[in-house]
Amino acid sequence: MSADCIFCKIVQGDIPSKNIYEDDDVIAFHDIHPITKVHFLIVPKQHVESLASCSSQHQTLLGKMLLLAPELAKQQGLVGFRTMINTGREGGQEVFHIHMHVFGGGDTLPRT
Ligand code: AMP
Ligand code: ZN
Repeated sequence: MSADCIFCKIVQGDIPSKNIYEDDDVIAFHDIHPITKVHFLIVPKQHVESLASCSSQHQTLLGKMLLLAPELAKQQGLVGFRTMINTGREGGQEVFHIHMHVFGGGDTLPRT
């Protein structure tokens, strides 16, 4: 855990979140500023800064996050969806605790 990390605080229950899934390794909750009708985040409980700081030891965790996306998207009523992992400041990452955005709903998403 990292003391100043907002997602670690959510994992610990110190900051409220609208959870849709939780197990020993991962938590998923609705994004506080959704950009589509449905927009949630899949977040490992372990503090890992970004995709760029992952190595082979994170392979199982990353696979789990990826496979959870269609399962949770379906539960949220999405037929199609988009996944996004912003990595580093240049990649648009604002919270430096790795997370995967899953979003969709309503109209077909634009290409970019
Ligand atoms: P990123 O730019 O990929 O780092 O995205 C961070 C995301 O976290 C943004 O979409 C924020 O809206 C979202 N976010 C920040 N704080 C919270 C929070 N307390 N609960 C839920 N989502 C949050
Ligand atoms: Zn963290």
